[in-house]
Amino acid sequence: MRTRLYHHPIFAEHLTGPGHPERPDRIRAVEAALEAETFQLLQRCEAPEGRLQDVYLCHPEDYVRRVAQATPAEGLVRIDGDTVVSPRSFTAALHGVGGACLAVDDVVSGAISNAFVAARPPGHHAERATAMGFCLFNQAAIAARHAQEAHGLSRIAIIDWDVHHGNGTQDIFWSDPTVLYASLHQMPLYPGTGSVTETGAGNIVNAPLKAGDGGNAFREAFLARVTPAVTEFRPDLIILSAGFDMHYRDPLAEIELTEEDFDWATGQVMTLADRFCNGRLVSVLEGGYDLTGLGRSVATHVQRLMTG
Ligand SMILES: [Zn+2]
Repeated sequence: MRTRLYHHPIFAEHLTGPGHPERPDRIRAVEAALEAETFQLLQRCEAPEGRLQDVYLCHPEDYVRRVAQATPAEGLVRIDGDTVVSPRSFTAALHGVGGACLAVDDVVSGAISNAFVAARPPGHHAERATAMGFCLFNQAAIAARHAQEAHGLSRIAIIDWDVHHGNGTQDIFWSDPTVLYASLHQMPLYPGTGSVTETGAGNIVNAPLKAGDGGNAFREAFLARVTPAVTEFRPDLIILSAGFDMHYRDPLAEIELTEEDFDWATGQVMTLADRFCNGRLVSVLEGGYDLTGLGRSVATHVQRLMTG
């Protein structure tokens, strides 16, 4: 497989303050894990600064202006209970958008087989007009819209296995049957949404897990809920909100996945992409707060993307 990593030094410049779990060391752990010899054939490119026009596909202009205006010249500003911005945060978030959109361009053009966008801040809690849960711009959602607007793709499936429910992505596509949102997550847990009764226009599929569930429950839920939904939907492109906070070492949740489970899940998503959309898959980093668990899981994930 031709797999390309989209990264940028600015992703370590989004500062969140001492003790915050969504910290620059996360991206350093990801970069370090992908420096191993097994990743010699991994293509690499800098995530460009995203275009505001792409951000506006999912977020109103006045919301984007509010985030920009909240960005301090120095120090940190808290814009939600747990969402912090520093001087470089707005630009970092724009590079996350740019990386995700360029990854879509490259996968759709056939330049590469699949992509991993190693960006922070994460995005899936960002609703249309609300920053929350460490997230400013919802890059997975924007990438889906970009695929439709710039490339004319009809149906985009977003699979989300971050341990927290992607309320932002659900919000953005709530009444839009052209985008399937299928999420596996722990419930109850932040942000509180994600029950099976939340179905939008029939395009929202939530598969909640409970604290203590491990690989078997995760795999069963994936096969029972996600696989049939994607199969019925027949997407033209799959975008993966790849959080790694279901890892057993993660301090923010209680799902006990191992790297082998992430390997299996990556393979399942790739099989779906092969079946319906020529393998077209863009994976975007979301959460994952134990540095060791995150690094190992990302390495496993990207290795599977590369080897098929
Ligand atoms: Zn998460």
